[in-house]
Amino acid sequence: MSLSLDQLPPDRIFVGGQWRRGGGAEIESRFSADNSMNRIIKGASNQDGLDAIEAAKLAQADPAWRNMKPHERAGLLDAISRGIAGNIERIAFIQSRDTGKTLTETRALAQSAAGTFRYYASVCETADEALTVPRGDYLTFSLHEPLGVVAAITPWNSPIASDAQKIAPALAAGNAVLLKPASWSPLVALELARIMDEAGIPKGLFSVLPGSGGTIGNLLVDHPDIDKVSFTGGTATGRHIAGRAAQKLMPVSLELGGKSPSIVFEDCDPDLAIAGILFGIFSSSGQSCIAGSRLFVQRSLYPGFVDRLVEATRKLVVGHPFSARTQVAPLVHPDHRRSVEEWVATARKEGGEVLTGGARPDDPALREGAYYNPTIIAGLANDSETCRQEIFGPVLAVMPFDDEDEVVALANDNAYGLACGIWSRDFQKSWRVGRAIRAGTVWVNTYKQFSISTPFGGDGESGIGREKGRDGMRACMRQKSLYQDMSGAPHPWARWPTDQEPSPDTGK
Ligand code: NAD
Repeated sequence: MSLSLDQLPPDRIFVGGQWRRGGGAEIESRFSADNSMNRIIKGASNQDGLDAIEAAKLAQADPAWRNMKPHERAGLLDAISRGIAGNIERIAFIQSRDTGKTLTETRALAQSAAGTFRYYASVCETADEALTVPRGDYLTFSLHEPLGVVAAITPWNSPIASDAQKIAPALAAGNAVLLKPASWSPLVALELARIMDEAGIPKGLFSVLPGSGGTIGNLLVDHPDIDKVSFTGGTATGRHIAGRAAQKLMPVSLELGGKSPSIVFEDCDPDLAIAGILFGIFSSSGQSCIAGSRLFVQRSLYPGFVDRLVEATRKLVVGHPFSARTQVAPLVHPDHRRSVEEWVATARKEGGEVLTGGARPDDPALREGAYYNPTIIAGLANDSETCRQEIFGPVLAVMPFDDEDEVVALANDNAYGLACGIWSRDFQKSWRVGRAIRAGTVWVNTYKQFSISTPFGGDGESGIGREKGRDGMRACMRQKSLYQDMSGAPHPWARWPTDQEPSPDTGK
């Protein structure tokens, strides 16, 4: 890797189109593979936030942006996409340093972000407005207009991809965007600002405000000039934001947590199922909203299948994020590893038997990093705390089931509703079960596959609204109905009785 720490963004934040030193509290970005310092960034102060909001409001209302034709906006999004695509290695390096993720994964996330901007360039250029069916001699249009200023609040687990998923459709729709990244991962958002600035984003239309949720997050949610909050993060934070947004009657979209079930039927292809389950829970070290963290295996298959799964899990390579062999990299932060360790202790107290993992790796080379071994726990009840709550780490609970009705009930007996995996060769059964599961996304004989064209979001405590797809741009717009009279005739209701018809000259 030829990139060095010099490539990390400097201690500047991007406010109203200008780079400045933040006036807020210091934010430490550390490399969780060895706890070394990446950068200390002065975060955004309240005043930085207010300046960004003011600049965004002006830039969004500027006729140069407001009246820009969709194909011209598409050109800007395309330039941003090319800017990202031309900086994949640099973005991957910064994001791996910021989050501890493997370079293999951060490269893929950077490519996905470039694809997201490219996709919304084409959505922007090809979105039609509807001419609806009239009930009189007029034309009726259903039109879409930008909301104004959209605040994008994102988590640390896949920052460049979740940032792009919010920024691209909001800009395509003609809004201004203020991005507040998570405190553990401010750097890649600043790199994105550099790329967007170089691509020619109009001054003020985009700002990056690193800072805590309690200061900058609350400012954005409460401010009267913010017209929508697009949030991805934990359910507790999402609920808090929705409560405050209700006071302003402001639309929010909430992409929240999950405790997703994977269901293995006895007629599955076991090799396919084992590979998919390992990827579904242990890639990204389990720090994924859609992680398949509850595994239900049909009882007839259970003993042999779980033995094979445990054996395969022990062979996963836990290692440095920059090694091409690594499958399981460190967690994002030592504090987060502590939380995962506490969850495993809870599982043990609840009667769980740790079949593998349940500890930090022994390898002395990994001692300084926030590593945790992939962990499988058996013997827990589906209604235990461990199986109810999101752990957001490499921890899988396995449980047996007897039949289809029982497993659908178990899978649905959870407050979350984000994703589900079904492993079966019987496509009619997978279809039935897939339809019966309460989840925003269901995968059959695969897991964690995405397309930017396909809507994504959760039910229940996993959130409100959908991102991605053509409707992702519409979610950043308000609808307007416009009736255009074509007859030139006054409305008959307003006609004076004919015997009192006014003189055309005097009106009396
Ligand atoms: P978090 O809720 O702690 O923080 C997310 C963002 O919200 C951060 O930028 C944070 O600073 C900000 N925030 C915190 N308090 C706030 C407040 N009062 N007002 C406004 N903003 C505030 O989540 P996290 O720990 O960063 O991320 C992990 C969570 O994100 C997990 O629960 C995971 O499931 C979820 N997630 C969901 C999806 C999805 O698409 N459904 C995707 C990725 C992550």
